[in-house]
Amino acid sequence: MTRTTPPRPVDVEDVFPALSAHRRTATRLHPRQGVAKAGESSLAGPLSWPAGEPWPVCTAVHAKGTGHRLADVRLKRRILAEARGRDLSVEERRILDALRPGRHAPGLRDEDPLPLLAVAQLYTRDVPDLVGPEGHDLLQVFWCPFEVHGPDRTIDVVLKWRRSQEVGDVLADQPEPPVAGREECVPTPCVLHPEQVVEHEYLGLLGEELQEGIADWEEGLLDEEDEDDEDEDAYDSSTPQSYDTYEEYEAATARARAEEEYEVDYMGDLSIAPGWKAGGFASWHLTDPAPVDCEACGTPMPPLLTVDQWECDGGSRSWLPLEDRDSADDPDVIDPVGVYLGRGVMRVHTCPVDPAHPHRLGFQ
Ligand SMILES: [Zn+2]
Ligand SMILES: [Zn+2]
Repeated sequence: MTRTTPPRPVDVEDVFPALSAHRRTATRLHPRQGVAKAGESSLAGPLSWPAGEPWPVCTAVHAKGTGHRLADVRLKRRILAEARGRDLSVEERRILDALRPGRHAPGLRDEDPLPLLAVAQLYTRDVPDLVGPEGHDLLQVFWCPFEVHGPDRTIDVVLKWRRSQEVGDVLADQPEPPVAGREECVPTPCVLHPEQVVEHEYLGLLGEELQEGIADWEEGLLDEEDEDDEDEDAYDSSTPQSYDTYEEYEAATARARAEEEYEVDYMGDLSIAPGWKAGGFASWHLTDPAPVDCEACGTPMPPLLTVDQWECDGGSRSWLPLEDRDSADDPDVIDPVGVYLGRGVMRVHTCPVDPAHPHRLGFQ
């Protein structure tokens, strides 16, 4: 099934033509749990990896044998998914209690090479906003699932670009690390439903005049809404409501909440799409915007890949695909991947001049 982002509630370039200079496309990946084939775009494998080529490894010296067994992480997610909407059984609770992090791979020394975790495989035919080296049509993303690398002590991301037609025989048994430092570093296998959308630059990075114009415009929308509310209040007071039970009252308030006028705002609805995506803009909702420039050539680096905890949350409801309207609270829709890095968002930025220049990570 495809996923379709609803049209934006307002054509913001109609209101602010200057924003057309701050437009970029992004490809929302729309991951949903499921296992893809090696020749398809996916999260968490299997990859189209040549049988004769060594699997990438982490050679940094750090504790590698202690953490969460990948099999445990998957079992826990499966049990919790099956028990959704009901209490856990005694047996399920017993199993979950036993799934503890620990020194599960005692033979693994700090200096041993550790197979990296397959995170994503993206074909440019599916993901038009993927920009890599000339002639390369496949990006494979790996990470070492321990947050101990570099001065910021983060996961370590490795990108592998290829020409897919050169792969040949695909590696049958694809390695993975035995344990991960944190459960939320482990992606659940997902199939993808890529969809290209239009984004606009983060509010704080627009010129002052545009920022002020947008703020005034948003305020104007709120004023209009207040006037509407007053009309409704007048009507409400002439038709007093009473409810026989608390449940009825609750149902009525839930209905009213759902019908509540939706407040359009630039940041939530018109600038940056939530969820896993390629291309587009970076959001700086937690820290002030900071330049992300290439260490090799100084060129500003846009995000190549954004890893997001939520596909959609309260502030970004208008981005929920039409096909998922009836399951807005379903964890499979809003958090299908189970990955949580930084404080929810991790970005891989690459150099637009030469994608082979070292990438940089950004966290929000
Ligand atoms: Zn590592
Ligand atoms: Zn560069």
